[in-house]
Amino acid sequence: MSITIQNISKTFGSFQALNNVSLEVPSGGLTALLGPSGSGKTTLLRIVAGLESADAGTGGKILFDGLPVTDNPVNRRQVGFVFQHYALFRHLTVFENIAFGLRVKPRAERLSRDAIRERVTELLKLVQLEQLAQRFPAQLSGGQRQRIALARALAIQPKVLLLDEPFGALDAQVRAELRRWLRHLHDTIHVTSIFVTHDQEEALEVADSIVVMNKGGIEQVGAPNEVFQNPATEFVMKFLGDVNVFHGRIHNDAPVFTDELKDANGVRLLVRPHDLTVQLYPGTGISLPAQVYRVLTAGPLVKIELLNSQNNLVQVHIPHDVYQAMPVKPGQQVYLVPKESRLYGNGNERIEYVI
Ligand code: ATP
Repeated sequence: MSITIQNISKTFGSFQALNNVSLEVPSGGLTALLGPSGSGKTTLLRIVAGLESADAGTGGKILFDGLPVTDNPVNRRQVGFVFQHYALFRHLTVFENIAFGLRVKPRAERLSRDAIRERVTELLKLVQLEQLAQRFPAQLSGGQRQRIALARALAIQPKVLLLDEPFGALDAQVRAELRRWLRHLHDTIHVTSIFVTHDQEEALEVADSIVVMNKGGIEQVGAPNEVFQNPATEFVMKFLGDVNVFHGRIHNDAPVFTDELKDANGVRLLVRPHDLTVQLYPGTGISLPAQVYRVLTAGPLVKIELLNSQNNLVQVHIPHDVYQAMPVKPGQQVYLVPKESRLYGNGNERIEYVI
């Protein structure tokens, strides 16, 4: 089922948490809402769910498969939820936790006892935890609880699955494992899912589509590769990974970085650490002088820290074999040449340029 979010605004007192947000969530996809704390992700998810209402009188609408659900309460939207804190019922076994949503349905819609048993068994298989059916939540690990929470959310056969930082409370290794597992699960069931996270790695690895949010608005929507390779704004570029920022200005239609000038023509060149190369002599295009400060060789890439002419720290990540061919040392004067870079102007927008 597709979800259409049209002109949604939300204010809490005088604070505007969402500012005229519109978004199309395609049917069957796994969409991540990605953004820093306070950017409005959870508020948007709650409005889609029907747990929160958008500001009245602004023409905001939510549509499921083209039909408005804005006035439908949460129990009529057929959504399944998973939250950061696995709100499992402590006094019920895993089996009964998953069965809960099926058992409380009105008699006319309720499945038979045998059909419920069959469905719960199927779901336990799907989340690969059949052997834990008779345990209580306190006897499970955090990761197992979240898988059960997901099975419980899926029991009612939701048309939409909403996940709010589902792995937020888990440690890094379990998190990484569970996000691969979630991707695999989604590929099996294809239920339209929206997934809130502030972790860019999680979004890049799991989602079909990423919605980058900032200050109650959407900065960019795109496939992981698209938002990473073609960040529409400076905010997106910075949020999706480490960047080095070089201040310059436009001179004769080209950016120059000979001195620090943040005037009306001020521009910023953003380069990721793995997109910078180190040379002993200046190149013909953009070539930024810097002095090596520290070299860290432990890890999969060599990390070189340098100070540029404005005394700002610059990070360069290069493969070990490239470093071995030119093992620069602290104090050495070098030149940084970007292989790939993006230029942004004062309005946060991207500027195309040719070296
Ligand atoms: P986080 O990752 O920290 O959960 P988020 O992007 O999900 O952040 P929201 O929870 O949507 O952000 O909150 C957006 C803003 O709205 C925040 O500044 C928050 O303090 C504010 N806010 C959210 N709910 C309420 C509320 N019920 N009353 C007042 N302010 C609220």
